[in-house]
Amino acid sequence: MTAEANVGVVGLAAMGGSLARNLAHHGNKVAVFNRSWGRTEKLMAEHGSEGEFYPAKTMEEFVASLSKPRTAIIMVKAGEPTDSMINQLADLMEPGDIIVDAGNAHFPDTIRREKAISARGLHFVGCGVSGGEEGALKGPSMMPGGTKESWETLKPILESIVAKAEGEPCVTYIGANGAGHFVKMVHNGIEYSDMQLIAESYDLMRRGLGMSPSEIGDVFEAWNHTELESYLVEITAEVLHETDKKTGKPLVDVIVDHAGMKGTGTWTVQTALDLAVPVTGIAEAVFARGLSSQGELREEALKQHFEAGRSGLESMPLEERQAFVNDIREALYASKIVAYAQGFNEITAAAKEYGWDIDLAAVARIWRGGCIIRAKFLNLISDAFESGEANVSLLFAPYFKDALETADRSWRRVVSRAVNFGIPVPVFSSSLAYFDGLRSDRLPAALIQGQRDFFGAHTYQRTDEPGVFHTLWAEPGREEIKES
Ligand code: NDP
Repeated sequence: MTAEANVGVVGLAAMGGSLARNLAHHGNKVAVFNRSWGRTEKLMAEHGSEGEFYPAKTMEEFVASLSKPRTAIIMVKAGEPTDSMINQLADLMEPGDIIVDAGNAHFPDTIRREKAISARGLHFVGCGVSGGEEGALKGPSMMPGGTKESWETLKPILESIVAKAEGEPCVTYIGANGAGHFVKMVHNGIEYSDMQLIAESYDLMRRGLGMSPSEIGDVFEAWNHTELESYLVEITAEVLHETDKKTGKPLVDVIVDHAGMKGTGTWTVQTALDLAVPVTGIAEAVFARGLSSQGELREEALKQHFEAGRSGLESMPLEERQAFVNDIREALYASKIVAYAQGFNEITAAAKEYGWDIDLAAVARIWRGGCIIRAKFLNLISDAFESGEANVSLLFAPYFKDALETADRSWRRVVSRAVNFGIPVPVFSSSLAYFDGLRSDRLPAALIQGQRDFFGAHTYQRTDEPGVFHTLWAEPGREEIKES
């Protein structure tokens, strides 16, 4: 076999098969290999004529068909299968060759793999990919992390296949080792909060205002022509307009209300806890999915307590109802801004911790197309980081500051009405609490410090004098001593 292919794909299931086709559609010469030959055969039988492919039956043949520096993109099941493919490739490749893991790896695994592979003189790139199977075929958003040198080789290949937003390719070099998979993880965390906020808005209109799924679908369709314009709002309208073929009911009414998850949201929250960065919107969204799936507990709660979410909003006069729908839109936008600000804070904290130089404006730019959270307002986020206005937090950039101030009254009305009527809005309310917490002149944390000092001698600082203090709580006079 001659070394003709400029790129190869290992793993030809839904994602890898689509990515290989996308590469071939854009003029790349693509070597393809899959553990079981049947999948390669099928891909070639169905799509082999779409471009220049080099199917290989063995890993040896696959590596031999790649031109130097050899570039292989792995798209197999995350975990042990990925390690196995990486090691097989590394055993056959030469220094300077590039192994890309485009699966959904957890970033600490990517850091570990990069260390091991670079010690062998090869480049290892952990590349986040968003957009699902359709994105992989027609243009995903890609977040590669690894050496700058490998990016030079990868850039033209990846730029040829990604989505374009306003003409710009949705891929950029993110940073060293695990940076790409980290940014993809936070992308998924933000996706959780976006979806939960949309779901809470739906719930308020459905159970609160008694609107039908189709009416609510119309509202989302209209919102998709506002600052909320995004892929998730667009597909929400479609889902809500769908009728079940079997029963004739709205499809959303026959879908079991247990939300699934694959773990990237949980990773985002676990990592945020390690970094001590509050990502309350994402965390509440993950917990809300968890609660939804606790079927037995929910059934018992319904038996033990009366059903929550019995609203009185249906009886509102029409004008007031319309005003409330508008309040929900404002609250959704404000909470969304908070959730994104928190996600970007997590990236900033991780960049500091792991020594990554991440361009947040570029991250926002590559999320504008191809990925699940693509949205019009990412242009504004990218501008805010580009100009330096969001250096401390997105919430302080003038556009977002104005948006939050404009939404303030609506946001409070939505949260308070939801609480009154027993409709849970964990992301709306936690985002508002975060925003209020940040802006509080004095927080009750002072009392917590007092309690900590009381039971554990954890000390505290004073507002009027530098140093560390402890009160002798058990002593009769409760004297204060200065410890340092
Ligand atoms: P799957 O995650 O279902 O994995 C199937 C592929 O993995 C097949 O090619 C299979 O080979 C291979 N495989 C499984 N076990 C092994 C093993 N022990 N050794 C070698 N190969 C093995 O495929 P997807 O296409 O859905 O996803 C691929 C990767 O992309 C995953 O890491 C996934 O998390 C990630 N991803 C998926 C997205 C999605 O929307 N689906 C989005 C973004 C990333 P065989 O045919 O021989 O069984």
